[in-house]
Amino acid sequence: MASYIDSSLHQIDPQIAKLLEGEYERQTKTLVMIPSENYASRAVLQTMGSILTNKYAEGYPSERYYNGCAYYDMGENLAKERARKLFKAEHVNVQPHTGSSANMAAYYAILEIGDTVLGMSTEHGGHLTHGKNLNFSGKWYDYHSYGVSKKDERLDYDEIREIAKKVKPKLIVCGASAYPRIIDFEIFKSIADEVGAYLMSDVAHIIGLIAAGEHPDPVPHSHIVTSTTHKTLRGPRGAIIMCKRELAEAVDRAVFPGTQAGPLMHQIAAKAVCFREAQSFGFKEYQRQIIKNAAILAETLMERGFRLTTGGTDNHLMMIDLSDKGLNGRDAADMLEEAGIAANKNSIPFDTRPPAITSGVRFGTPALTTRGMKEEEMRLIGGWISDVLSNPKNQDLRMKTRACIEELCEQFPIYLDILNW
Ligand SMILES: *Cc1c(COP(=O)(O)O)cnc(C)c1O
Repeated sequence: MASYIDSSLHQIDPQIAKLLEGEYERQTKTLVMIPSENYASRAVLQTMGSILTNKYAEGYPSERYYNGCAYYDMGENLAKERARKLFKAEHVNVQPHTGSSANMAAYYAILEIGDTVLGMSTEHGGHLTHGKNLNFSGKWYDYHSYGVSKKDERLDYDEIREIAKKVKPKLIVCGASAYPRIIDFEIFKSIADEVGAYLMSDVAHIIGLIAAGEHPDPVPHSHIVTSTTHKTLRGPRGAIIMCKRELAEAVDRAVFPGTQAGPLMHQIAAKAVCFREAQSFGFKEYQRQIIKNAAILAETLMERGFRLTTGGTDNHLMMIDLSDKGLNGRDAADMLEEAGIAANKNSIPFDTRPPAITSGVRFGTPALTTRGMKEEEMRLIGGWISDVLSNPKNQDLRMKTRACIEELCEQFPIYLDILNW
């Protein structure tokens, strides 16, 4: 394996250099199918690993608490402008360090401690920051949950409306980490209007699809939209908050000085790069292919006798229900890892197993699609997943599968140009 890191790191810190090389090899030789993961472009990586990490720039463009921020102002303004254009948002804050900090700031902007919030239950696909009892959101707010219906495992908007009428939340949060279907922001807005609540859409997972016009747009219907930039958007680890003009000041003050101090300006400049990449025609094609790939993978798995929750997928991810296979999610994910496939165990709706074990495995296609894999490869991969999960006692098969996967990976290299850094 050719080294892609500067030789100086080998001299200064051989342990970390070795670790980077090992991880490069893992990312190269295995199938990354965790739906929240992706390969950021070389341009994004370069910006992240730049001298922009050296400086403090507390505050906002033209209102910094430190001198010498001219280039930082330019970078942050570019990021804001590009995001505003890409999503047609009235206001964007590009400083949140990550998705959870964006959600914390969004809550801080409109809620007081103890206020009532309604969001999607984490057991049914909601995020940790949507009221999980171990998370600040569950501790500081009076958080209530809606889930999916037992009948088809989809959001039941009539039921959500009934719960909203009962608990009278100040804020309704929609969006999920493990929901394979379209989310109807328009209905969520009508429910929020009916009970006089704010609507916040957390689209961390599907933001890339939204940017490409391949998923309904939350921006017109939401008071606040939060998102990560490192999942389907394929940018640096980080997040943004978009909001209506009247909330702009509250949101900005909630990020700084409310919940963060010095912004990560190297990450913010890299966000600007990813917004530019997302405006390209190739990006739209990329997002379309993610969805096509997910549909073919889902079809292949179902043909091989696996039940997917909700019976399939509309987006970039899917979940296999293993309850009738005598296998749990943890063991399945471990077996897949042994075979060279990185997927994660995930609770399925109404799961009878605890979160550390689960009855589901979650798969996504964003990272494979970045490598250039298409329908044909999805059929191959779906077949391999089925073989491995249908023969849990066969370690030899996992080893053989791993060899096939390494061969496939060789045809779809990552960072071809990485040696030219
Ligand atoms: C990933 C995700 C987040 C943010 O997570 P971080 O790990 O803090 O970046 C927030 N909300 C949802 C729905 C997510 O899927």
